[in-house]
Amino acid sequence: MTPPGALALATRGLRKSYGKRLALDGLDLSVPSGVVYGFLGPNGAGKTTTMRLLTGLLHPDAGSIELLGAAFRRGDRKRLFEVGALVENPSFYPYLSGRRNLEVLAAAGAAVPPRRVAELLDLVGLSERARDKVSGYSLGMKQRLGIAGALLSDPKLLLLDEPANGLDPAGIVAMREMLRRLAATGKTIFVSSHLLAEVRVLADVVGIIAAGKLVREGTLESLLSDQGVVRVRVPRAEAATARTVLERIATTNAGSDTDADAWLSVHVEPNRAGAVNRALADAGIYATALESGTDLELLFLQLTGGGAASSEGTFGTAGVTTGGTGSGSSGAASGGASETLE
Ligand code: ATP
Repeated sequence: MTPPGALALATRGLRKSYGKRLALDGLDLSVPSGVVYGFLGPNGAGKTTTMRLLTGLLHPDAGSIELLGAAFRRGDRKRLFEVGALVENPSFYPYLSGRRNLEVLAAAGAAVPPRRVAELLDLVGLSERARDKVSGYSLGMKQRLGIAGALLSDPKLLLLDEPANGLDPAGIVAMREMLRRLAATGKTIFVSSHLLAEVRVLADVVGIIAAGKLVREGTLESLLSDQGVVRVRVPRAEAATARTVLERIATTNAGSDTDADAWLSVHVEPNRAGAVNRALADAGIYATALESGTDLELLFLQLTGGGAASSEGTFGTAGVTTGGTGSGSSGAASGGASETLE
């Protein structure tokens, strides 16, 4: 457990509804100081709502927020000088240069040292394009300029809502490198994303939100080193025999069933999927789908609805394999979506 004093951001029991729609259902976040915290969740999970609450754009129905060790309450928006945020798309004067836009922004806020604008342009990788009009910037460059703007007051904590959204692969890499450079300066960065692969390469600590609640939180290392899982789908009539066979390899849990099939989860390293398949085949049972990964990967696959996530590339580097002897990869992925991991 992180001692409370070391937290850059904490929420307790945060609740927010839009009319009858419950968006946050008692959210408890603990963000240690000096880390990149990946706030991960599928679309509609409540990430943007959380960001709006953390930046005072909305007020919670219940619960509390602590920023940099002090309570953040209604009317405390001036404290946002201590906290940089990019929650909605940044807006700039398109006919002014990137540098001039930052200078205008700086003049409107608390006084900053004259060299700060140049330093920030360097930090976000825009020095060479600083004199160009913003109207000629790519989306990624505008996002990075927005982050430079959020950093003008040299905040200790930076809140970023899906900064890589809509960027092309080169823009995503540039964003990632910039955030790592920032993290190296000792700032706490709280960044939301719906892409597990993105969070894996960026974050030190991960919190997963689903339906307005935190479902996992911990260091990326600990979440990924949790025991691996190989999941296998077999004909329902053979599920009991399959489970007996697989129990000889490792602890095996039964998952959700359909009329025809049953999913079994074998708690072994992901790279032992072949051994699982072979054990079943040796017993005369043919898997209709098979997938493997860490508990974190499979949990996220389930939360994001499996097939849709895979097609977005969420699991491109995450090590989840789909396929099997029967219905092919889409069957495996959609089966994963309905599964409850134990
Ligand atoms: P995404 O990644 O798609 O932006 P998210 O995780 O940021 O999703 P939120 O935008 O916080 O999720 O939405 C959480 C829930 O609240 C969703 O069910 C959403 O439809 C609902 N919601 C968000 N904003 C509003 C609003 N202004 N009015 C009504 N419902 C809203």
